[in-house]
Amino acid sequence: MKILTTGGAGFIGSHTCVELLNAGHEVVVVDNFVNSQKEAVHRVEELTGKTVQLYEADVCDPDAMEQIFSEHTFDAVIHFAGLKAVGESVAQPMRYYRNNLDSALTLCETMARHGCKRIVFSSSATVYGVPDEVPLREDMFCKGCTNPYGWTKYMIEKILMGICDADPEWSVVLLRYFNPIGAHESGRIGENPNGIPNNLMPFITKVAAGQLDHLNIFGNDYNTPDGTGVRDYIHVVDLARGHVNACEYAQQHSGCEIINLGTGVGYSVLDIVHAFEKVNGIKVPYVIAPRRPGDIAECYSDPRKAEQLLGWKAEKNLDDMCRDSWRWQKNNPNGYQA
Ligand code: NAD
Ligand code: UDP
Repeated sequence: MKILTTGGAGFIGSHTCVELLNAGHEVVVVDNFVNSQKEAVHRVEELTGKTVQLYEADVCDPDAMEQIFSEHTFDAVIHFAGLKAVGESVAQPMRYYRNNLDSALTLCETMARHGCKRIVFSSSATVYGVPDEVPLREDMFCKGCTNPYGWTKYMIEKILMGICDADPEWSVVLLRYFNPIGAHESGRIGENPNGIPNNLMPFITKVAAGQLDHLNIFGNDYNTPDGTGVRDYIHVVDLARGHVNACEYAQQHSGCEIINLGTGVGYSVLDIVHAFEKVNGIKVPYVIAPRRPGDIAECYSDPRKAEQLLGWKAEKNLDDMCRDSWRWQKNNPNGYQA
């Protein structure tokens, strides 16, 4: 298949490009580099020995998107492009709604004009809101999000469902990611957050590297086995492979499917710290800090639908995630900057 990846230079997009190319697909990337570097795409080419056509453009720009679609016939699109920092979305709601909703609508309008009706969308477990029970299943009612970022994911899911209802030729796969961590095992591509990381694993790797003094563990009084928050961490390469299967599924089916991409296993913050220390032989100093506003105690997936529909399940374990996250950080102390 010939596949357009929007936001393909980002963390999940770059890993997915590698898996798509290795599976024999052709890949075109459009990215405006608001949160990524061109170097990531060069490294995708280096890892696969294949070329990627790269467009530097904003997916919200209808003329740029028209140009790309007039130069290619795509079999499917994976829409990764979006702003993703929860705290920033609370501070800058208009920017988040404009970027995330506008890019999704502009993309879908361009696709429709060109008769490309297959899309895989990066949604998030955040759309489940505060869950009544875990594991989370795709058929559970989403009670509402706790921040503008989450609402953009929720709204784009609704937009894509509406497009499918109106035109049964569309094929939409809404992938609800749980907590992607890890990196490609080569140590050449990985997560490259700007400034001080918000998420747990990039924070841990920066502490291990001595770039940050200690980890703050946000609360140890949750109703969980050790009191710290529990999440469903998934290796980014497993997640990337799930997109290959989702594209192939979309080629054979029409309609809209919501699919969790997680492992189904919950680990606590302390589990992650201890696994990281053991696997890599490095201490991660931490202090117990107050709970982070908006956090929930437990969040993990029921991953069975992905296995049934896509024939996919996560294969890598927590040790792999910790080892690969650290290799990326160690080999690239400043991310993609030399
Ligand atoms: P990322 O920031 O590394 O990648 C997103 C990419 O989109 C970046 O390269 C950025 O430059 C690009 N981009 C943003 N707005 C754009 C626009 N208007 N036009 C063109 N390019 C644009 O993030 P990621 O972690 O790779 O996430 C990819 C997708 O998955 C996002 O939509 C994110 O919300 C979603 N997601 C991520 C996580 C996670 O924990 N990483 C969890 C659930 C969902
Ligand atoms: N967390 C933490 N310290 C940090 C960052 C995160 O204790 O510096 C905890 C957080 O409270 C949650 C888990 O780690 O229980 C995962 O947080 P992250 O921000 O990575 O992902 P989220 O599940 O919030 O999207």
